Amino acid sequence: MKLGPALVQTVRHFFPQLNDWLQALPDTRQAEACIYETRFLAWWGICLYLFGLKSRRQADFRLDARGTSVLTNLNRLAGTQQTTRPVHGTLDHFVGHVVPEGFATVRTRLVRQLIRSKVLEPARLLGHLVAPLDATGQFAFRQRHCAHCLTQRHGETTVYFHEVLEAKVLGPADLVFSLASVFIENTDALAPHGKRRGADAAKQDCERNAFRRLAPLVKRDFPQLRLCWAVDALYACGPFFQICQDNHWSFVCTFTPGALPTAWDEFQRLLPLCPQNRLERHLPDGTRQLYRWVPQVGYTDSEGRSWAFHAIQLEETVGEQTTTFAWLTPLPVGRRTVEAIATQGGRHRWKIENQGFNRQKNSDLNLQHLFSTDPEKLKAYYYLLQIACILLQLLEQGSLLRRLAQDYGRTPWQLFGSLKNVAWLLLESIRCFPWPSECFTPAATRLRIRFALFNSS
Ligand SMILES: [Zn+2]
Repeated sequence: MKLGPALVQTVRHFFPQLNDWLQALPDTRQAEACIYETRFLAWWGICLYLFGLKSRRQADFRLDARGTSVLTNLNRLAGTQQTTRPVHGTLDHFVGHVVPEGFATVRTRLVRQLIRSKVLEPARLLGHLVAPLDATGQFAFRQRHCAHCLTQRHGETTVYFHEVLEAKVLGPADLVFSLASVFIENTDALAPHGKRRGADAAKQDCERNAFRRLAPLVKRDFPQLRLCWAVDALYACGPFFQICQDNHWSFVCTFTPGALPTAWDEFQRLLPLCPQNRLERHLPDGTRQLYRWVPQVGYTDSEGRSWAFHAIQLEETVGEQTTTFAWLTPLPVGRRTVEAIATQGGRHRWKIENQGFNRQKNSDLNLQHLFSTDPEKLKAYYYLLQIACILLQLLEQGSLLRRLAQDYGRTPWQLFGSLKNVAWLLLESIRCFPWPSECFTPAATRLRIRFALFNSS
């Protein structure tokens, strides 16, 4: 099966310096323990997710070096000459000696490289890369797991859990890459005056507080990036608007009557007064879309700051059923832009849920598996997952895989059936076939790998 070589070619094409970046991880292992090169162990960690191994212990069995090509292939991938392979304890020891931010830096370098090599260009919205933002649950426990657990009461029982706020960036096809992550910890659950509030209020505090920490990370790592946040109504508030203004970021924010009631009333009052701001679309499947918009809807936040944004309403009719969506944005809304803003900035926000969290939770990527009990190591494993997920998506959505399927006279979907099968076939490939040396030559970096503009929705 040529899937393994296709993965190697994809990695070497997009990230020819990846082994240098992995070797540069801040690895603080003691000299006597350094049987394994840093980049080799980092690849070993990435392999947990590439091959859908589900647990560290599974790696001991599935990636056994005896009678397989595992060690040969992995040495080639990492550019190392290890004579044995590590066991799960070795990996965990290594992960504990690299601060989580070390792995986060590798993730950032991958995304920077994709931006620099213009892979994400076709997905720009009016010059901006679209970045959906959302929090998701990582782990939940019946008993306190660590000092940082968030807590929630359900009747007599308390649930202890961990969440992460993710900023993703959208590419063409269905590419959804992790741009920045902030772990939501128990200090976030406190209201600004220090009192613990109800679950919903606390959750909002959590996410908004976490965004205050995430914003400077994004600015530090991507200072020049023209960014458009795609956010839900939770972010329709003065502090979010101010952070965007300070950083020269744009946004498309879900607009609901509940989030900003006075602005919503003004929007609804002005809509009939702007009959010219209207665009009707009839899609091939019979869906009817009616876009209407109002420029400069005003809003005064709790600190007395005045804001004015353009408001868009979309009524979508499928058969007898009409659904209404609305968004707020500072982007220039007009007949030529309204559809792109509503689609790429508004509706594609769901990709963080579908192609982002659901994929990472419900496939063999196993976002919610406890690869360690140590909270710091869990963060490191989280970043390893994000790194593997970037590599896997480039393989799955790229033209190499389509060409490979064509060789068998099929589409990738017909050939592989599901993403789980891709992981399983990759595992079979690293175990059973020595990957040919051609895919490790510099020529691999000069391949052309393309992506469709949009795969779904
Ligand atoms: Zn905990």
